[in-house]
Amino acid sequence: MSSASLSPVLKQATPVVVDHASGSWIHGTDGRRYLDFTTGIGVTSTGHCHPDVVAAAQEQCAKIIHAQYTTVMHQPLLRLTEKLGEHLPDGIDSVFYANSGSEAVEAAVRLARMATRRQYIVTVQRGFHGRTVAAASLTSAGTKFSAGFGPLMAGVATTPFPDALRLGLSEDEAVDYALKEFDYLLGTRIHPDELAAVLIEPVLGDGGYLAVPPAYLAGLRERTRRHGALLVLDEVQAGVGRTGRFWGHQHTDGLVPDVIITAKGIASGFPISAIAAPEAIMAKAWPGSQGGTYGGNAVAAAAGVATLEVIEREGLVENARVRGAQLLDGLRAGLDGVDEICDIRGTGLMLAVEFGDPTANAGSPDSAEAVRLAGAVQRACIDEDLLTLTCGPIGAIVRIIPPLTVTADEVATGTERFIRAVERVVG
Ligand code: PMP
Repeated sequence: MSSASLSPVLKQATPVVVDHASGSWIHGTDGRRYLDFTTGIGVTSTGHCHPDVVAAAQEQCAKIIHAQYTTVMHQPLLRLTEKLGEHLPDGIDSVFYANSGSEAVEAAVRLARMATRRQYIVTVQRGFHGRTVAAASLTSAGTKFSAGFGPLMAGVATTPFPDALRLGLSEDEAVDYALKEFDYLLGTRIHPDELAAVLIEPVLGDGGYLAVPPAYLAGLRERTRRHGALLVLDEVQAGVGRTGRFWGHQHTDGLVPDVIITAKGIASGFPISAIAAPEAIMAKAWPGSQGGTYGGNAVAAAAGVATLEVIEREGLVENARVRGAQLLDGLRAGLDGVDEICDIRGTGLMLAVEFGDPTANAGSPDSAEAVRLAGAVQRACIDEDLLTLTCGPIGAIVRIIPPLTVTADEVATGTERFIRAVERVVG
């Protein structure tokens, strides 16, 4: 008998071991009570252990835990589909379920290729779509996600993101530049007739909490339509209320994608993910080509129904907008004049504080210092009993992801703690 331990491949962001958690708070086995502004990387949307979600899951456990949706159908999945349908854009009326974000991304790639009988998927620089082979192939939010794992999936190209901050341009200029680059890619490398889909997050997540400018998304919509390709929105992190709209792409007026990918916040922590598309598109995939043993699990689906009901009943999409604005204003006011910080941004309750020179590349001494500062602030937050995470291609960004249920008092407490953490580090 050997004494086993967890693999060192897991990179722990905090030393906290949870005893129990409730709402915005995690109680550690160390006896400390932490304000959780990580929400399990944007997952526990209704806060930890929301009583309605717990009750729905417990009730479902006593009925059936695993039915296997291609063997026998179960009521929670039918109810979840109905509930999700209330939030999907007109015409997006067919849903397929999996377990994780990466699996759903894979399903979307498979669907896009089968529906169009084309090969190429275009993504943007700094996008993050997961860690499986297809998802990692679409990811350019850091080399750690693909290094040592190649060769990755063929038929993927990456186009520049309209990143005004790093390009040193206005937003309009950045959009113009990025759309020209996209057109250039389709004129020089990928024939438009071979473009299956453009796959993009509405707010880049692990790549740095960067909102996609509406004019860029609208430009991609126009181009994908013109070229007969699909526009696939990866709403895994930004969807389900997180940005202050139900879907992140709703910040672009009138935009209707072809495929929506959702996961994380949809079931408050139970593993379930989905892709949604018009039935005419879904029907182009061979029956049986998508599936999985655990996909659309009954307990996870019941938790998903309860999550969507809580989000509606408690007005959590609006809360995300209002509390997100409060947090952004508080951070900007409290950190004004801190030279080491180059940007404080947020869309709803997806907030980021970026350190250093945004134009410095990963190899420059400037960026090494920014990475050090972001890491030091994230650790200083733990000392203040506040949990945050870092993100960005090199980790120079601290991201703040409260639950959608966060209160005004908790935002005020979190803001104070964050500012104190920065002061501890920069003096
Ligand atoms: N897409 C996006 C936008 C994500 O943020 C993530 C997870 N951070 C994924 C896909 C992958 O999801 P999972 O970790 O559940 O596979």
